[in-house]
Amino acid sequence: MRILVCNDDGIYSPGIAALAEVASEFGTVRIVAPHVEQSSMGHAITATRPMSYRATPIAGFEAYRVNGTPADCVALGAHLWEKVELVLSGCNLGLNLGNSTWHSGTLAAAKQAALLGMRGIAFSVPSGLEKFDTVKPWIRKVLQTLVPAHELNLVNVNLPREPRGMIWTRVAVQQYDGVVIPTKDPLGRDLYWFSVKPLEGAEEGTDRWAVEQRWISMTPLRLDLTDEATLDACREQRPLDEQLAATVSPPVSSPEVAKQVVEEEATVAHAQLP
Ligand code: MN
Repeated sequence: MRILVCNDDGIYSPGIAALAEVASEFGTVRIVAPHVEQSSMGHAITATRPMSYRATPIAGFEAYRVNGTPADCVALGAHLWEKVELVLSGCNLGLNLGNSTWHSGTLAAAKQAALLGMRGIAFSVPSGLEKFDTVKPWIRKVLQTLVPAHELNLVNVNLPREPRGMIWTRVAVQQYDGVVIPTKDPLGRDLYWFSVKPLEGAEEGTDRWAVEQRWISMTPLRLDLTDEATLDACREQRPLDEQLAATVSPPVSSPEVAKQVVEEEATVAHAQLP
């Protein structure tokens, strides 16, 4: 099995070497990762300049650094190395719990894998973790659980400092306090740092609660963000033109119409769609 290893902390992070080492027990590993840190870049892709890569062997593994985002690295890595089945992202130095799932570049690499038809697993450990020797056996256990579970195509894994075991969790979606902290640069000009803090305590069964209780949190995720229950309620309580649309519009659009919309989505004009 071909395993692509990516991260958002940059290719020289100790976290990616540790993950690659354990991953190599499960398949053939190749590292493709950003050349500089891309934390909190989320699922950004590079759309207005070209990407390139340079060979940079890491911990004895074939590795390439890319001038792009984590999502770019997964796309380029899968393009250059056919038949990748599994993308492992991390280990991020810093937990990715709750609201972080929206900002994390680590998780975005795993999401990009799922979008491209591969499986993706994101790994995060506490920031400030000095030695990976203690978490490596747990990374192995997580992979022993997740690798054979082919139905799980996207999982967010967070490891506490001294794990007691592993549990399945859901995302702790809470309102957070977005604090903007002003400061000055050496010339006295205004600078700002944006920092977030959850407003309430974590609920039982969530990723945040699990890590608070020293359990490894494993959250299966899906890419479809549609709120099904609310959608049903909207269609029932606030009907729009759904009936008319179903009457006059065919269930599948013509190729010409579909192509037109794809072209209208592009940030950069498509060269020529076939
Ligand atoms: Mn990071």
